[in-house]
Amino acid sequence: MNSVEPVYNSIRRRIAAAAEATSANADVRLLAVSKGQSVGAIRALAALGQRAFGENYMQEARAKQDELANLALEWHLIGPLQSNKCREVAQRFDWLQSLDREKLIDPLTRHRPPERAALNVLIEVNIDDEPGKAGCAPHQVQQLAEQITAAPHLRLRGLMAIPDPHPHPGERRAAFVRLRGVFENLRSEYSSVDTLSMGMSEDFELAIAEGATMVRIGTALFGPRLPRR
Ligand SMILES: *Cc1c(COP(=O)(O)O)cnc(C)c1O
Repeated sequence: MNSVEPVYNSIRRRIAAAAEATSANADVRLLAVSKGQSVGAIRALAALGQRAFGENYMQEARAKQDELANLALEWHLIGPLQSNKCREVAQRFDWLQSLDREKLIDPLTRHRPPERAALNVLIEVNIDDEPGKAGCAPHQVQQLAEQITAAPHLRLRGLMAIPDPHPHPGERRAAFVRLRGVFENLRSEYSSVDTLSMGMSEDFELAIAEGATMVRIGTALFGPRLPRR
């Protein structure tokens, strides 16, 4: 008996119910955020059919990917990306959810192995305009989208954001609604755009209600994270 199974099933049911309650009623993908979780915990979820896993830190991701290389998993980088890590990201990941500046595009393009499928890219937006936080400003999305679309070996899929964890759900809802607006504009212009990644353990149902097509869930699935060393 796999102890994560009831939790996994319950989260999936909640996602499906929230998706069904929206007018879009589309499939909402679950990204299992495995940063700070053990390889054994990833294996247990993979055994239940979970394919997509999200990691934040290169060193930690590398070790897990090597150990789990025999499983057909889909890896998403969701943490901030430094330009000196672009080569490894291009070689090791299927999705990059945190592209937020032009400077990253060229090294990602150059280092993506041409025999692999294009790297799926989400533009990370600093939707609450929080100082010092990762993500581009909403008005920069358009230009980045043009540059990503023009670059070989990258495929623009949409947007990602981590709204300010406001104490009031109403403010968080407003951030999701703003992001949705930017997303709809982008989707009307680029046929490759289909993914709006927003919502985490605490607010994924609200995010789905406001149009998320992918939610990123860590602690609600796996329990508390191990502290980083
Ligand atoms: C850690 C993290 C998550 C998951 O957070 P939980 O609250 O554990 O669900 C989601 N998205 C990003 C970008 C993260 O860094």
